[in-house]
Amino acid sequence: MQARLPEWVDPLALVDRRARLAGEIPLARLERLAGLLCDTEGSLQAEMDFGRFEERRPGVRGKVKGRLHMTCQRCLEAVEIPVDLDFELYLVESAALAERLPDGLEPLLHERGQVSPREVVEDEVLLALPLVPRHARGQCRPPRGGEATASDVEAERPRPFAVLERLRRQ
Ligand SMILES: [Zn+2]
Repeated sequence: MQARLPEWVDPLALVDRRARLAGEIPLARLERLAGLLCDTEGSLQAEMDFGRFEERRPGVRGKVKGRLHMTCQRCLEAVEIPVDLDFELYLVESAALAERLPDGLEPLLHERGQVSPREVVEDEVLLALPLVPRHARGQCRPPRGGEATASDVEAERPRPFAVLERLRRQ
Protein backbone atom coordinates (compact mmCIF):
# COMPACT_ATOMS: atom_id res chain seq x y z
CA MET A 1 0.00 0.00 0.00
CA GLN A 2 1.16 3.47 -0.89
CA ALA A 3 1.84 6.20 1.62
CA ARG A 4 -0.96 8.51 2.63
CA LEU A 5 -0.67 12.16 1.70
CA PRO A 6 0.11 14.46 4.64
CA GLU A 7 -2.94 16.17 6.11
CA TRP A 8 -1.52 19.70 5.95
CA VAL A 9 1.48 21.13 4.14
CA ASP A 10 3.23 24.47 3.89
CA PRO A 11 2.96 24.92 0.11
CA LEU A 12 5.52 27.73 -0.25
CA ALA A 13 8.14 25.66 1.56
CA LEU A 14 7.38 22.81 -0.83
CA VAL A 15 7.70 25.17 -3.80
CA ASP A 16 11.16 26.23 -2.60
CA ARG A 17 12.21 22.58 -2.36
CA ARG A 18 10.40 21.66 -5.61
CA ALA A 19 8.95 18.86 -3.58
CA ARG A 20 6.80 16.02 -4.81
CA LEU A 21 4.03 14.43 -2.78
CA ALA A 22 2.53 11.14 -3.82
CA GLY A 23 0.15 8.89 -2.04
CA GLU A 24 -3.29 7.50 -1.79
CA ILE A 25 -6.43 8.95 -0.31
CA PRO A 26 -9.17 6.56 0.82
CA LEU A 27 -12.51 7.57 -0.72
CA ALA A 28 -14.07 7.27 2.72
CA ARG A 29 -11.95 10.24 3.85
CA LEU A 30 -13.33 12.52 1.14
CA GLU A 31 -16.58 13.40 2.83
CA ARG A 32 -18.02 15.82 0.29
CA LEU A 33 -17.28 13.40 -2.53
CA ALA A 34 -18.45 10.33 -0.61
CA GLY A 35 -21.96 11.80 -0.40
CA LEU A 36 -22.23 11.51 -4.20
CA LEU A 37 -20.99 7.93 -4.46
CA CYS A 38 -22.70 4.51 -4.17
CA ASP A 39 -19.84 3.20 -2.07
CA THR A 40 -16.55 4.40 -0.66
CA GLU A 41 -14.49 1.28 -1.29
CA GLY A 42 -10.95 1.92 -2.48
CA SER A 43 -8.90 5.04 -2.83
CA LEU A 44 -7.56 7.59 -5.27
CA GLN A 45 -3.89 7.87 -6.19
CA ALA A 46 -2.61 11.42 -6.20
CA GLU A 47 0.65 13.13 -7.11
CA MET A 48 1.51 16.76 -6.54
CA ASP A 49 4.61 18.55 -7.79
CA PHE A 50 5.34 21.93 -6.27
CA GLY A 51 7.42 24.52 -8.09
CA ARG A 52 7.42 27.70 -10.12
CA PHE A 53 5.64 27.40 -13.44
CA GLU A 54 4.06 30.14 -15.61
CA GLU A 55 5.93 33.44 -15.12
CA ARG A 56 7.82 31.77 -12.27
CA ARG A 57 4.70 31.87 -10.13
CA PRO A 58 4.54 29.36 -7.27
CA GLY A 59 2.12 26.56 -7.87
CA VAL A 60 1.35 22.91 -7.87
CA ARG A 61 0.82 20.48 -10.69
CA GLY A 62 -0.97 17.28 -9.91
CA LYS A 63 -2.55 14.10 -11.14
CA VAL A 64 -5.37 12.05 -9.66
CA LYS A 65 -6.26 8.53 -10.72
CA GLY A 66 -8.71 5.96 -9.53
CA ARG A 67 -12.25 4.67 -9.86
CA LEU A 68 -15.51 5.71 -8.30
CA HIS A 69 -19.00 4.28 -8.32
CA MET A 70 -21.95 6.57 -8.87
CA THR A 71 -25.62 5.79 -9.45
CA CYS A 72 -26.53 5.57 -13.12
CA GLN A 73 -29.34 8.04 -13.74
CA ARG A 74 -30.86 5.77 -16.37
CA CYS A 75 -31.04 2.37 -14.61
CA LEU A 76 -30.18 3.36 -11.01
CA GLU A 77 -27.46 0.70 -10.77
CA ALA A 78 -23.85 1.52 -9.93
CA VAL A 79 -21.74 2.79 -12.81
CA GLU A 80 -17.95 2.92 -12.66
CA ILE A 81 -16.55 6.39 -13.24
CA PRO A 82 -12.82 6.39 -14.06
CA VAL A 83 -10.88 9.30 -12.62
CA ASP A 84 -7.79 10.39 -14.53
CA LEU A 85 -7.24 14.10 -14.27
CA ASP A 86 -4.45 16.66 -14.23
CA PHE A 87 -4.48 20.03 -12.58
CA GLU A 88 -2.29 23.10 -12.32
CA LEU A 89 -3.00 25.61 -9.58
CA TYR A 90 -1.25 28.81 -8.52
CA LEU A 91 -0.78 29.71 -4.89
CA VAL A 92 -2.42 32.93 -3.76
CA GLU A 93 -2.87 34.29 -0.26
CA SER A 94 -6.20 36.01 -0.77
CA ALA A 95 -9.22 36.15 -3.03
CA ALA A 96 -8.09 39.63 -4.13
CA LEU A 97 -4.78 38.19 -5.36
CA ALA A 98 -6.62 35.34 -7.06
CA GLU A 99 -8.51 37.94 -9.14
CA ARG A 100 -5.20 39.33 -10.33
CA LEU A 101 -3.89 36.06 -11.73
CA PRO A 102 -3.54 36.15 -15.52
CA ASP A 103 -6.42 34.60 -17.48
CA GLY A 104 -6.28 30.85 -17.64
CA LEU A 105 -4.37 30.35 -14.39
CA GLU A 106 -6.37 28.69 -11.63
CA PRO A 107 -5.83 29.90 -8.07
CA LEU A 108 -5.23 27.82 -4.98
CA LEU A 109 -5.97 29.87 -1.91
CA HIS A 110 -3.69 29.08 1.01
CA GLU A 111 -4.70 30.64 4.25
CA ARG A 112 -2.21 31.01 7.06
CA GLY A 113 0.39 29.27 4.93
CA GLN A 114 -1.31 25.89 4.93
CA VAL A 115 -2.95 23.70 2.32
CA SER A 116 -4.64 20.33 2.69
CA PRO A 117 -3.60 18.07 -0.21
CA ARG A 118 -6.69 15.98 0.46
CA GLU A 119 -9.00 18.97 -0.02
CA VAL A 120 -7.20 20.07 -3.17
CA VAL A 121 -7.65 16.60 -4.65
CA GLU A 122 -11.29 16.44 -3.54
CA ASP A 123 -12.08 19.82 -5.13
CA GLU A 124 -10.51 18.75 -8.42
CA VAL A 125 -12.39 15.44 -8.50
CA LEU A 126 -15.70 17.15 -7.68
CA LEU A 127 -15.18 19.52 -10.61
CA ALA A 128 -14.49 16.60 -12.95
CA LEU A 129 -17.46 14.39 -12.04
CA PRO A 130 -20.15 13.92 -14.66
CA LEU A 131 -23.29 15.94 -13.90
CA VAL A 132 -25.46 13.02 -14.99
CA PRO A 133 -23.60 9.75 -14.41
CA ARG A 134 -24.79 7.05 -16.81
CA HIS A 135 -23.65 3.79 -18.28
CA ALA A 136 -22.61 3.88 -21.92
CA ARG A 137 -25.54 3.29 -24.25
CA GLY A 138 -26.68 -0.31 -24.12
CA GLN A 139 -24.74 -1.04 -20.91
CA CYS A 140 -27.55 -0.41 -18.44
CA ARG A 141 -29.01 -3.25 -16.43
CA PRO A 142 -32.42 -4.34 -17.70
CA PRO A 143 -35.21 -2.92 -15.55
CA ARG A 144 -36.36 -5.10 -12.69
CA GLY A 145 -39.92 -6.33 -12.39
CA GLY A 146 -40.79 -6.01 -16.08
CA GLU A 147 -41.97 -2.41 -15.83
CA ALA A 148 -41.00 -0.58 -19.01
CA THR A 149 -38.62 2.21 -18.10
CA ALA A 150 -37.14 2.88 -21.51
CA SER A 151 -38.99 6.16 -22.00
CA ASP A 152 -35.98 8.26 -21.03
CA VAL A 153 -33.80 6.37 -23.51
CA GLU A 154 -36.09 7.29 -26.40
CA ALA A 155 -36.50 10.87 -25.23
CA GLU A 156 -32.81 11.63 -25.38
CA ARG A 157 -30.82 13.69 -27.82
CA PRO A 158 -30.84 12.58 -31.46
CA ARG A 159 -28.74 9.49 -31.86
CA PRO A 160 -25.56 9.94 -33.90
CA PHE A 161 -26.44 7.02 -36.14
CA ALA A 162 -30.04 8.10 -36.78
CA VAL A 163 -28.88 10.06 -39.82
CA LEU A 164 -27.10 7.02 -41.22
CA GLU A 165 -30.16 4.85 -40.66
CA ARG A 166 -32.26 7.35 -42.55
CA LEU A 167 -29.78 7.43 -45.44
CA ARG A 168 -29.72 3.67 -45.61
CA ARG A 169 -33.48 3.51 -45.89
CA GLN A 170 -33.63 5.87 -48.87
ZN1 LIG B 1 -27.29 2.34 -16.23
